[in-house]
Amino acid sequence: MRKQPTRTCAACRSKDGKWSLVRVVRLPDAGGVVLDPTGKRAGRGAYLCASDACLTLAFKKGGLARTLKCKVPAALEAEIRDHFKTVQPAAPAESDPTSE
Ligand SMILES: [Zn+2]
Repeated sequence: MRKQPTRTCAACRSKDGKWSLVRVVRLPDAGGVVLDPTGKRAGRGAYLCASDACLTLAFKKGGLARTLKCKVPAALEAEIRDHFKTVQPAAPAESDPTSE
């Protein structure tokens, strides 16, 4: 049995675990940097926690660009943020005492 490859968030450096990570890939042949929801595209990949905090950090601090070793278009941040909304179903606020 093959071990699953370890994935490290490009922003907070935490390993795959309690967050599901999203993959961003730098396409070969200067194809740019794109979000890879399937995790199957060829190219150099970077992973991010599916959290706004890590997304912001990855762009602000350049962790994403550093991991991919190339420039990352700023527009990608919004695209990934949109993607988070689709992968994070709105959980019912069952343990939130302020919701009534
Ligand atoms: Zn993270």
